[in-house]
Amino acid sequence: MTKNVFKLSKSVLEWIESNQEKFIEISNDIWSLAELGLFEEESAKLLADTLEEAGFTVERGVADMPTAFVASYGTEDPVIAILGEYDALPGLSQVAEPIKQPRKEGGPGHGCGHNLFGTACLAACLAVKEAIKSGKIKGTIRFYGTPAEENADGKGWMINAGVFDDVHICLTWHPWDLNFVIANNFQAMYNVVFQFKGQAAHAAGDPFNGRSALDAVELMNVGCNYLREHMIPDARIHYVITKGGQAPNIVPDKAEVWYYVRAPRVEDVKALYPRVVKVAEGAALMTETQVDVTLLGGSANMLPNETLENLLHEKMMDIGVPEFSEEDLDFARQIRQTFPENFFDNFLAVLPQDARPFFESFKDKEFCDVISPIFGRGITMGGSTDVGDVSWVTPLAQFAIACTTIGTPGHSWQSVAQAGMTIGHKGMLCAAKVLAIATIELMQTPELVEKARHEFEEKIKKTSFQSPLPDGARPPIEYYRSLYKNK
Ligand SMILES: [Zn+2]
Repeated sequence: MTKNVFKLSKSVLEWIESNQEKFIEISNDIWSLAELGLFEEESAKLLADTLEEAGFTVERGVADMPTAFVASYGTEDPVIAILGEYDALPGLSQVAEPIKQPRKEGGPGHGCGHNLFGTACLAACLAVKEAIKSGKIKGTIRFYGTPAEENADGKGWMINAGVFDDVHICLTWHPWDLNFVIANNFQAMYNVVFQFKGQAAHAAGDPFNGRSALDAVELMNVGCNYLREHMIPDARIHYVITKGGQAPNIVPDKAEVWYYVRAPRVEDVKALYPRVVKVAEGAALMTETQVDVTLLGGSANMLPNETLENLLHEKMMDIGVPEFSEEDLDFARQIRQTFPENFFDNFLAVLPQDARPFFESFKDKEFCDVISPIFGRGITMGGSTDVGDVSWVTPLAQFAIACTTIGTPGHSWQSVAQAGMTIGHKGMLCAAKVLAIATIELMQTPELVEKARHEFEEKIKKTSFQSPLPDGARPPIEYYRSLYKNK
């Protein structure tokens, strides 16, 4: 960091610290609201209102999604975007205690820490705004309110609406149990629902008059399970049956199965997906039913940007790791007693292969107390994220900060509990600081922006972006409204 950047960063960090209570409160409010993707009305409003009150220009309801928004401050270049998420997960309601206890039985919960995610990005944007306002740096800071990461790939729909077109650089982060730059790839994915329609009949009286939509679902699943042998090894197919009929004595005339189809690159998933559709059509043919295929979302793999990854690593080293208290350690020890016995093996297994030896000695640590070296370049991990789509339209990098004890299972009640208390808050504030000083450095160092953009342009020349979302498709708000009706 140059002396000038250092001085400015110091005042930005002090600003975040002096406002930290406000950010903890916002994070807790979003945690309590725990709104599902595409319906994060109150959470999005809280973030957007806070930005508007601070002088940002806010455009709400972008890309046909009421909970998507873009908040912008400044008029000059470079335009630096920070991606915020705030959607919760179904069925994970949990109090902020180390024992399993839902706040609302069957209700949603922040099992991916997106309350911390969105709020850290908010804090960083507001802090950078203060620096722009003071005249010490030039640039535009944008908060991208990106809904429905978990269920509908909000960012892909926003890209198709053109809201990223003038962005120079994009940064983001994610809560984790480690502190690292996320340099690995994530799988490209299709999120799709197959709705079969048949003919109802008395299941005992005149079954010969029935055409079972549930049979079609079951045959489709069998077909896909055979397909597994003949697809590339890293691809993944998984499904849940979301409608299977009303009673055993009625041949079901409606049945529905929800699939995620994943593969390491968009082109791989684009090749696999039509084969899954063929299986569905085959199942419909066998059962004399009809099938409707509705794409609910899709995300691309990551296009990495090493220039930005290196910048984030340097800023993480400047800020250091979150400091957890005795009470936090105690909470961690208690919640770890609820983890499966082999939790540490599971923890190692989901790391990029090149990172495993480094973390092998972490078994007895409650919290990650280091910023890890950069691991995972060129390695594809099992999950997917719509952050991948954004990485194809603007240079992007992301990092993770420890917001849970090591080994906390993803999308779990244990994760929800920690996202609603001091462990999560400390990670969140640390992430806000990294995002803010990385943005300051970019705004003060045009050659760094140029270098990141050059790397991006060179990569995009070789492989251009193919959106997994088909032309003319719209965000699946109505589908999810009916799915979540009783939740
Ligand atoms: Zn997440």
